[in-house]
Amino acid sequence: MTLNIPFDNTYAQLAPHFYSKLAPTPVAAPRLLAFNERLAEVLGIMRRSDEDLAAVFGGNVVPEGADPLAQLYAGHQFGSYNPQLGDGRAILLGEVLGRDGIRRDIQLKGAGPTPYSRNGDGRAWLGPVLREYVVSEAMQALGIPTTRALAAVATGETVWREQGLHGAVLTRVAQSHLRVGSFQVFAARGDTASLATLTDYAINRHYPDADGPMGLLRAVRDAQVELISAWMSVGFIHGVMNTDNSSIAGETIDYGPCAFMDVFHSNRVFSSIDRSGRYAYSNQPQIAVWNLAQLATALIQQYDDPEGVVEEATEIVHAMPDLLQSAWLRRFRAKLGITSEDAGDMELITDLLRLMAEGQADFTNGFRALLEGGARDQFLDPEGFDAWEARWRERITKEEAVEATMARANPVLIPRNHRIEQMIAAAVAGDMAPFERLNQALSAPYEARAEFADLRQPPAEDEVVRATFCGT
Ligand code: AMP
Ligand code: MG
Repeated sequence: MTLNIPFDNTYAQLAPHFYSKLAPTPVAAPRLLAFNERLAEVLGIMRRSDEDLAAVFGGNVVPEGADPLAQLYAGHQFGSYNPQLGDGRAILLGEVLGRDGIRRDIQLKGAGPTPYSRNGDGRAWLGPVLREYVVSEAMQALGIPTTRALAAVATGETVWREQGLHGAVLTRVAQSHLRVGSFQVFAARGDTASLATLTDYAINRHYPDADGPMGLLRAVRDAQVELISAWMSVGFIHGVMNTDNSSIAGETIDYGPCAFMDVFHSNRVFSSIDRSGRYAYSNQPQIAVWNLAQLATALIQQYDDPEGVVEEATEIVHAMPDLLQSAWLRRFRAKLGITSEDAGDMELITDLLRLMAEGQADFTNGFRALLEGGARDQFLDPEGFDAWEARWRERITKEEAVEATMARANPVLIPRNHRIEQMIAAAVAGDMAPFERLNQALSAPYEARAEFADLRQPPAEDEVVRATFCGT
């Protein structure tokens, strides 16, 4: 008996050139590693035996109602246009209308080769699968829009990278997998009819109030503004903000070489493949604008007479930096307990960030210590901080509910890189306890719980993770 998933598929109803229909490639020995019961409940999926879950979420059994397919898309990767990407190792099983009324994709990542695999093997290994599971669920708990993790399954097969590694499949859940690159692929081909179809599809699915292509552009912009400012506020570095990893629904998608900063540095880069620092922490807002400009360029292609529309699109894109700045200010004000606006706030915030960089303060602990006490100990130069603190204390005398605001804006826990690496090493050795514990701790990241005090600690010298790898 297979798992009962209440599928209700819409993308699969689009014309055949939007995707390639194919089933996941079965794996040798599927074994359930993790299953997200709370998410399953929202999706209306009943818990079954581990064997049934592993069979479906490992790709060996296609559940009833699924209409499996790989989606077509293109994208700019590190600024260069790649005309055909597509799901090279992901297969969309279908969509589910959740108990909360939200439609979501259920997708297997690492499900075997597809027509878009190019030279890839279509597979994933355990490390990135568990990393995405933990980090995406932590993002959700932090209140940041993100794809979710429903299940992780070991395949019992070896995946070859530089060495033989344990194969695994992640079940990813997203409000959709539409990306900027989903539009670019048709724009580049001059296929205006498909562009129009996809525009309508995206509006119906995500922004029913949006009026036409420019309404969609504006809605995506606003969603991306919220998303990127949220990343900035927790020290998150996505690492591969290519247009194929830029979600139309405004979710964080594709956790490759992503990382949370420990010590604050505005130009921080972790990704080993980002040699020029294109996707450095402080560049993320700018890159989001660049990506939106690519979406604008694509959407415009569907107009016969684009003249007036070009002007409107330009205005929509040009407004984005100011919107990002406002959202950023709002979020960093909140981190300082401020909800009103004062002309000096920008300077107050940037001065603190400069002190943090100079004083090698831990980003998360530095901000949280402003609330809990002991902030000056986070800085190499406590006196510099003292002067700043006096200015800040003066500023918040005009504020109400300072502590409540700060407690909501400054997490106690983030998925620290060294903990992720330790968790992966344990899982490779067959010990899933650190994975379970990290998930449990990160499910309430704004709560200071004594039992998880060790997870607040920055890495010791020999634990510091200096680079992250796509390691697909
Ligand atoms: P990413 O950098 O993870 O967003 O991936 C970029 C593109 O490479 C996407 O089209 C992926 O589907 C594809 N890809 C990544 N890893 C693999 C793999 N192991 N096999 C096939 N395609 C892959
Ligand atoms: Mg991708």
